Amino acid sequence: MIEIEVKNRLHSSIFHPYLREWHSKNLQLTPANLMYPIFILDVPDEKNEIASMPGIYRYGINHLKQMLQPLVAKGLRSVLLFGVINDELKNPIGTNADCSDNPIIKAVPLLHKWFPDLVIACDVCLCPYTNHGHCGILYEDGTINNKASISRIAEIAVSYAKAGAHIVAPSDMMDGRIGAIKKALDKADLAHKVAVLSYAVKFASGFYGPFRDASKSAPKFGDRKCYQLPPNSTGLAARAAARDVAEGADMLMVKPGIAYLDIVRKTKDTYPDYPLFIYQVSGEYAMIYHAAQNNAINLKDVLTEILTSMQRAGADCIITYFTPYILDILIPKSKY
Ligand SMILES: [Zn+2]
Repeated sequence: MIEIEVKNRLHSSIFHPYLREWHSKNLQLTPANLMYPIFILDVPDEKNEIASMPGIYRYGINHLKQMLQPLVAKGLRSVLLFGVINDELKNPIGTNADCSDNPIIKAVPLLHKWFPDLVIACDVCLCPYTNHGHCGILYEDGTINNKASISRIAEIAVSYAKAGAHIVAPSDMMDGRIGAIKKALDKADLAHKVAVLSYAVKFASGFYGPFRDASKSAPKFGDRKCYQLPPNSTGLAARAAARDVAEGADMLMVKPGIAYLDIVRKTKDTYPDYPLFIYQVSGEYAMIYHAAQNNAINLKDVLTEILTSMQRAGADCIITYFTPYILDILIPKSKY
């Protein structure tokens, strides 16, 4: 029989729930740790479910107030908005990303009026508005024209800021877009009241599939591997974060979440003074949702475990489609 030394016994530390708490890091999940992504349609009365993300909808503006009211009452503090427009309105430079009819330009002032305490972040990218579906402007040979792209992206960021966004969040992964946006905000005299949340460390991931369906933004040819990071490129991940910090990002993001928690930890350790966001992306949502639906996992238990792991890795805020469920089920009412 193998003798276990008394000092090497761990059960004595975890046999009681209070003891388990003392041995766990004090990671409390509150509404402050959540940001809710919302897809906004350019047809005001429309509301449609996203086939690849059951339970998640695209909303026309006329549905937003009713959808958000109960969530805000439960403590929701921030949202991340994505515009979705009709294919006929798309062109090579994404003109309709910031036209007066754009669903984001229209929704932001209304959200301000209805929910004065809600922090409004707007995703900034070209892919939902370009007919080629890429995140930048292209040369004729299909490669990225970075200079033209960041100038257009900065223009769009300023338009969203003028509409009233508190945060602009560029997800395009063009080189130098944080600096370009910061300069453009400064020129528009908005730099003091708009934060830049950089999708600093965004990997070319298979987990984005359902999102492209949701925002109708799949590339029409090729892929995004020439501007998003290779999944095993820890060096580029560190350089991307360093660059965005140097260019003036206010907050950083790692995307996706569950497969990249080592990067989250590394980024947080390198930049402890910057709020760090994780985007728990569409494919992560779909995997968890379907596994729970098929009784392979218990949704409450597994989601709690995943969110805890994200906080443990260093995330300050998690952008998640599960936000309504978390506000309902996982966060006790006394935390509001
Ligand atoms: Zn994009």
